[in-house]
Amino acid sequence: MRLTRRTLLGGMAALPVAVRAQSLDYRIEPVEVGDGLWIVRGADAPIERGNGGAIANLAILAGDEAAILIDCGPSLRYGRVLDAVARKLTGKPVGHVFLTHLHPDHGFAAGAFANAEVAGTAEVRRELQATAAGYADGMYRLLGDWMRGTEPVVPAATVTAGERLVAGRRLVFAPMAGHSPADLVVTDVATGTMIAGDLVFHDRAPSTPDADLATWRKTLGTLAAMSHKGLLPGHGPFDPGGQAAIAQTLDWIDWLESSLRGSVAAGLDMVAAGEVAIPARFDGLKAARYELQRSVSHFYPRLEAELFPRADQ
Ligand SMILES: [Zn+2]
Repeated sequence: MRLTRRTLLGGMAALPVAVRAQSLDYRIEPVEVGDGLWIVRGADAPIERGNGGAIANLAILAGDEAAILIDCGPSLRYGRVLDAVARKLTGKPVGHVFLTHLHPDHGFAAGAFANAEVAGTAEVRRELQATAAGYADGMYRLLGDWMRGTEPVVPAATVTAGERLVAGRRLVFAPMAGHSPADLVVTDVATGTMIAGDLVFHDRAPSTPDADLATWRKTLGTLAAMSHKGLLPGHGPFDPGGQAAIAQTLDWIDWLESSLRGSVAAGLDMVAAGEVAIPARFDGLKAARYELQRSVSHFYPRLEAELFPRADQ
């Protein structure tokens, strides 16, 4: 199931929506976590009007003649602020933007970087081509004026697996899958930092609208074994040790799958499946109940079909 208008509006309806007069200002405050590498943290919350959709993390890297972005935020308005922030920080214009996956909170600001190389894997480009219009519709309905002027951009450039020198900076690109059909992991060689996109969440429950849990589980094993030091998750705080966030994401996915299967087997309906007790070890995960309930809507019909096949089939 896609993060369609219905999914987005469903999420919104579950929240206490206080639509108030507000200024549409994105506050972007980068934090340096390595030499020439800054992170910008998103709000550890669902997409909502209070945060303008700025819920995803992203990275700014200083290159020789240009700044590099790994993901770029949810809207044109956000991208314009980010462009100015990155230029001030690095003293260079943004020359390269790499998108980790198809989701709008990570890549819908790409239109603000018309003069830069905007790149994704061939699979991410295909995913965006297929889904961007639907996601844009959902984002506009959910976020209103925050989105004005935003046009989803399908990256013109293709990035492939392996190491590449980008503006003098050695980056290792590793296309993977699991959180979505096409996820890109980027490792900055100079600092050893892994920028994991939404394959890794940290102290914030994983979102699953396009996930394949079995593939995701395997990919997390691969990430744990890959050479890196610190890790920037797609959502939640930077993990300086590089393993805790991976382990936590895997723990949640394992629990989620067994919980959903258990709920189907016990004959619970979808509402009840979204209300089961969440183990105490996940108390520190933001948006846990919200994401469990969304995951029920993403997986339940498929699991029911699998666990309760028709007697004549
Ligand atoms: Zn995502």
